[in-house]
Amino acid sequence: MTKTLFTRFTLTLAAGTGLWIAFTQQPPQQALTVTKLFDDLHIIVGNGGNVAVYETADGVILVDDKFEKDVPQIMEKVLSITSKPVKYLLNTHQHGDHTGGNAKLMAQGIEIVAHENARVNMEERKMPGLPRLSFSQQFTVRLGGKVVRSQHFGRAHTNGDAVIYFPAHKTVHMGDMFVANAPFIDYTAGGSGIEWPRTIERVLALDFETVIPGHGPVLKREDLVRWKQSFETLREDLMTQKRSGKAKDDVGKALDVTKLSGWGAAPRWERSFPGFWVELKVN
Ligand SMILES: [Zn+2]
Repeated sequence: MTKTLFTRFTLTLAAGTGLWIAFTQQPPQQALTVTKLFDDLHIIVGNGGNVAVYETADGVILVDDKFEKDVPQIMEKVLSITSKPVKYLLNTHQHGDHTGGNAKLMAQGIEIVAHENARVNMEERKMPGLPRLSFSQQFTVRLGGKVVRSQHFGRAHTNGDAVIYFPAHKTVHMGDMFVANAPFIDYTAGGSGIEWPRTIERVLALDFETVIPGHGPVLKREDLVRWKQSFETLREDLMTQKRSGKAKDDVGKALDVTKLSGWGAAPRWERSFPGFWVELKVN
């Protein structure tokens, strides 16, 4: 571990309650854009989480649906890609910037699938658009001769994270289990910084090359590996500091996670750190 990691960090303790409201604080209206990954797989970028659009002969499978206000624009973008109707929506986790469109899309007859814990988290927070279909380990959608799998590999960003796997394209949509900056460990929703790298390790058993992160540009498997290694580096370093008897607040103030490879900006790290520190078992 280099000393540069601990140059400067402002620690602000944040209240853990009502956290999903923070995620639904909607940014100013922004034009969404479409990026083509493959002929039948696109992503819609802008505002909330990245939306994946997978076209089959019998209809479309979506991954995540941003904020409620984005639904008309999401559907307009889907229509610019294909005239096939949307049949399924797979949520990667419960946060409002990934599930905000659920209620509106359900009203259009689209079936929504999420991990059981994500559904519980939504229910507890009285979020609209609870999925009618849920699973504990794996849910497979077969449509128009194509296969998409939603799989739970363990705790990470929340306790209900799903990785959406497109085997035909060796591509995964990771939701916020992988973002193009520092991770947010949502302890109010069962997230775990200790488990997170181990969970990614299990995801890496899948055969994939392309990674759609929850937010930010499309990346590669190697980027995910590096990002996970940064997590492990940080964990080991914090563990060493905790063992040596350093105080949480001192460590937090000196910490600069933006220096870790692939982490960059850390808008929510100050909410992740206190829980992560508690998780570190030094005995
Ligand atoms: Zn999230």
